[in-house]
This record gives sequence, structure tokens and C-alpha cells, in this order.
Amino acid sequence: MTENVNAFEIAQRQFDGVASQLNLDPYVAEVLRWPMREFKFQIPVRMDDGSMQVFTGYRVQHNDARGPSKGGIRFHPSETLDTVRALAMWMTWKCALMDIPFGGAKGGVICNPRDMSMGELERMTRRLTSEWMIIIGPNEDIPAPDVNTNAQTMAWIMDTYSMSVGHSVPSVVTGKPIALGGSKGREDATGQGCVCAILELLKHQGKKMDGVRVAVQGFGNVGGAAARLIAQAGANVVAVSDMYGGIYCATGLDMAGVVSHHRKTGRLSGFAEADDISNAELLELDCDVLIPAALGNQITSQNASRIRAKIVAEGANGPTSREADEVFKQRNLFVIPDFLCNAGGVT
Ligand code: NAD
Repeated sequence: MTENVNAFEIAQRQFDGVASQLNLDPYVAEVLRWPMREFKFQIPVRMDDGSMQVFTGYRVQHNDARGPSKGGIRFHPSETLDTVRALAMWMTWKCALMDIPFGGAKGGVICNPRDMSMGELERMTRRLTSEWMIIIGPNEDIPAPDVNTNAQTMAWIMDTYSMSVGHSVPSVVTGKPIALGGSKGREDATGQGCVCAILELLKHQGKKMDGVRVAVQGFGNVGGAAARLIAQAGANVVAVSDMYGGIYCATGLDMAGVVSHHRKTGRLSGFAEADDISNAELLELDCDVLIPAALGNQITSQNASRIRAKIVAEGANGPTSREADEVFKQRNLFVIPDFLCNAGGVT
């Protein structure tokens, strides 16, 4: 049988397994198996060269039984409705697990922000917010940063929303700049949460962080912070990667040097004091902890048996397929699941 990597089908199969273990009332299970509301938007944007481009965006509100729905927004060329549905469902479980009074939602726009200027991104975000006016709000649904969006994106959403209602509404988004009422520590919070979860697990196993060898895939908001903070906590970060590839140093990377190299060149490869490696090689490195913190479906039945880390700490949402989870279970490899491991940001 070929492996199913459709994120929403994975999310539903995970849910079905748990619902059956919990003997969940079939009516409740049927409600929770599907998103409560789904929206699709066409977003016309005037590009810098004068042409018009129409982008497609989604917002999925999975559930709001515990409070307003809450979840990030992604700008990515391979975004799909099913990815957004899965991410929205995982947000419901995450907020419930952390016992914060929110439900789950997610948004995404199919675009490649790397090919767009700041002006084009701003016009797209503001137009998207105009379309979203009827569904977002402090008591309804509250967006946050995710892949390829950041505090600046949140500031545009907040400003456009506020202009439309005629007064400032900082609580319509989280992850906004501190000057606009954002929370101190939010930038690092998701990565910090991953590190806390790993620390607690090591403690539970009677181990210490000192010298633990860590590999991190993804060097953005989550992976970049996790790598930096886990090194500060005493671990040896032996490898990190971004979309262009990774770097490896068996004795541990100098994280301050790596951060400065990344800031200067916009990528990790080419760092003088390390060897370049591919993302596939990073995942299969001999290390103690692997933090996949880039995109979903990075660990599947194709590579699960070759993962040599003893702990997989899911910084990204949905990095491990169901089949890979089964392989890990058979191998007694410990997984800290995404909805716990990356819950620091929303918390
Ligand atoms: P980001 O856009 O800040 O960074 C993404 C990183 O992944 C970048 O370094 C990019 O180069 C790298 N990347 C992209 N494609 C890759 C590939 N094919 N192989 C290897 N690296 C690749 O995004 P982020 O906010 O750090 O989000 C990363 C993951 O964490 C996502 O799954 C996201 O849903 C999840 N997440 C984010 C937050 C948050 O607070 N930002 C919270 C919870 C979960």
C-alpha cells in the first residue's frame, strides 16, 4: 500500500484512533472529525510592475467550543485546503491540551513570498484582511504568525482591521510587534516551548541536557530559536538546516557564528566551520535529539527506519506520517508530538 501523506487524512486518522481509544460518543466524534467552517478567498493584488495577480487563500475554523478559534497564517506556494484543515484541527487539540480558552483555526495563502516585494506582500495581506473582516475578530477568530509570516504581517492585519472598524483592535492578532501591544518573548516562544518539552523528557528519563547531540531541521521562527536556546541550555547542536540545505559539525556548531552567517548570507550552507549536508542527511544523522522544525511530512515510511536520533521533538506541525509513527513505536523511539512540543507560541 502506498503511504498517504495528505495532511487532513492523516489528522482524521489520528483522531479516529484516539476517538476509538476514548470510546468517544460517535456523534461527538463526527462533529470533531470535520472543520466547523471553511472559507476560500480570491485575493487580487496590484504587483509592482503594474500587472494584476489573483492569489487564493483559505481560512479554516475547526472548532470554537472552548473559545474563539485561534491559529496561524502561512504564505506558501504548496499550501492546500487540506493542509489548512489539518493544521486547524491540530490547533484545537493544542489549545485544549494546554488548557487555554481557544478553539482551533488556520489560514494559508498560495504564494511565494520570496518572489514578492514588501509592497506586494503588504497589499496582499491588507486585501486578505479585508476579505477576512467577516470572519476574524477578538471574539471570533484570532490569527498569528506561521510559515513565512511574522510580526510585520500581523501589524498589517491589525492595522487593516482597525481602519475598517474605526478604532484600534490589538487583540485581533497575536504575534504582533511589541510596540503595537505584542507579547515580550513571543518571537522565541515556540522554540522555547520545544526546549522545555525536551528538558522535561530528559529529566523524566533521568538524563541531563549537557552534551546531548541535537540536529534541527528548519531555521526560521521555530527551528532558529530552538537551536539557539537548546545550545544555551547545554546541548551540542551538531546540525541545522534551512530550505537550501544544512551544515554539520560533529563537535557542535558555534551557534553565535551560525546565526551571524545566516543573517549575512540568508542561508546556512557555506558556513566555514562546518560541512554542508542535505536535509535528508540531517534527518538521518547519528544524534540524541532530532527537532524537525520546517514543514510537514518530512519523516515517512521512506526514511523512518533510518532515523538514528533517540528522541524526535516535533517543532513543526505534522512532520511525522502515521506510518513513520508506527515504525518509531516498534523501535521504541520517543516522539514528543507537535501539539505539545510546539505549543509554546500559542500559550
Ligand atoms: P518560518 O517560515 O519562520 O521558517 C521555516 C524554516 O523552514 C525556514 O528556515 C525555511 O528555510 C525552512 N524550510 C522550508 N522548506 C524547507 C524544506 N523543504 N526543508 C528544510 N527546511 C525548509 O516558519 P516557522 O514559523 O518556523 O514554522 C515552522 C514549522 O513550525 C511549521 O510547521 C509551523 O506550522 C510550525 N509552527 C510554528 C509556530 C510559530 O509560532 N511560528 C507555532 C507552532 C508551530
